[in-house]
Amino acid sequence: MERHISGTTGLFTLLGSPVGHSGSPAMFNYSFKKQGLDYAYLAFDVKKEDMPRAIDALKLFKVRGSNVTMPCKTVAASLVDELSPAAKIIGAVNVIVNDNGKLTGHITDGIGFVRNLKEHGVDIANKKLVVLGSGGAATAIEVQSALDGAAEITIFNKKDEFYQRAEQTKQKIQQAKPEVKVQVCDLADQNKLKAEIARADILVNATIVGMKPLDGKSLVDKSFLRPDLVVADTVYNPLKTKLITDAESIGCTTAPGKGMLLWQGAAAYKLFTGKDMPTAEYQAYEK
Ligand code: NAD
Repeated sequence: MERHISGTTGLFTLLGSPVGHSGSPAMFNYSFKKQGLDYAYLAFDVKKEDMPRAIDALKLFKVRGSNVTMPCKTVAASLVDELSPAAKIIGAVNVIVNDNGKLTGHITDGIGFVRNLKEHGVDIANKKLVVLGSGGAATAIEVQSALDGAAEITIFNKKDEFYQRAEQTKQKIQQAKPEVKVQVCDLADQNKLKAEIARADILVNATIVGMKPLDGKSLVDKSFLRPDLVVADTVYNPLKTKLITDAESIGCTTAPGKGMLLWQGAAAYKLFTGKDMPTAEYQAYEK
């Protein structure tokens, strides 16, 4: 596994702020090393307003590709030369590929979500989803699930500044995939939530509820769950949210957020290198 940075080493970056806590540099550098690729991955703390200069720098330094994290995902979408279909609909990117000076933006959060379900034996095609949330992660999940053949998506959000975004996501999905039934509901309507979960195949928490400092909280009453419901969470800190432990105790198939995080990274790795990330080895190494 010995390797050295040389004059030919290709650079990949993470842009956003903050980035110090990110697990991406460890995951990508481990994988480059494991596969003997002459690449290195570094995180750069870049504020939203500095993204135009950072994007110019990607071109100037011939950086091979970059991940983009909060709060720069939306501005990055407006600065690249091309967008993947999902990134165009969502209007945000978390991956930029530099193809000889042409930058293409992708969003792999939704891809990671769908793949994580697949790893748990669940195919999104023809499924009915209830998704809690309409922020960045939720929008990526809602759009990718629609693109990948989900039959129905019911979005619940509290009446905060994100509620409007759920309505916009509904319109965008209906333009791209008119056959997918989408509805937007107020999370405060608990009778509606109970009824929609009763009709659903998959329930997803894509809000910050369950994440520290809201750990120990769940937006879903345990009595709304049943053993044949698949329950997924985007939250990965803690590794198991209250929603996931409630679902496990009932016997549901569960897909916690850590898997989504791994697979969105693996999808980025594939776009960057054309290779499959050594995910099993990395998971074993991380433990
Ligand atoms: P965001 O700020 O874009 O959206 C926040 C969402 O939470 C909104 O829908 C908002 O209405 C909702 N919300 C906030 N407070 C609430 C409350 N008290 N009750 C009900 N709803 C509430 O955030 P985001 O970037 O979409 O992140 C959401 C979660 O997903 C975070 O925990 C984040 O760490 C996680 N995430 C995970 C991955 C992954 O790969 N696993 C990727 C991206 C984000």
